[in-house]
Amino acid sequence: PCFQKTDISSLIQEILAQTSVPKTIEVIIRTDDIPTDFQADADHLSQIFRNLIRNAVQAMPEGGKLIIGSEIQSPDWMIIFFTDTGEGIAEEHLDKIFEPLFTTKSRGTGIGLSLSKSLAEGHGGDIEVRSEVGKGSTFMVKLPLEKKIK
Ligand code: ADP
Ligand code: MG
Repeated sequence: PCFQKTDISSLIQEILAQTSVPKTIEVIIRTDDIPTDFQADADHLSQIFRNLIRNAVQAMPEGGKLIIGSEIQSPDWMIIFFTDTGEGIAEEHLDKIFEPLFTTKSRGTGIGLSLSKSLAEGHGGDIEVRSEVGKGSTFMVKLPLEKKIK
């Protein structure tokens, strides 16, 4: 990765502006915790955020809420989370969704999450998921506050 001072909140705004989100989906952004000069690979983070936002939108064909937020997990980690009120993920799928080519969509590629997880790991971080069928999902992108390249 190529680390540079990155304004992650602006990056998220940019991606949302480029993504077609139906009017039936309310987007709430709470990313005040993120330092505006966070050391990050903007291109890699964009790819991760774009994939997570697309998946959230696809999980809410009838509309819903997408909350994008941040949280400092002192002292070492920052979490950027994407919570949707979509269909959720079946328990037996939870350990498969990060595998390359795993998809439950008729026109899915199954590439988004595996690529995103690799990119997050390359960033010294990870992606974790919590989900409940019928209620929604939260994807947490965990990034080291002080960059540690593997
Ligand atoms: P694709 O979107 O092409 O199916 P991904 O790697 O992005 O591939 O996602 C893999 C699978 O994980 C999806 O097919 C879906 O079953 C599940 N998934 C990912 N994100 C969500 C989400 N926000 N809500 C429900 N299911 C999800
Ligand atoms: Mg996807």
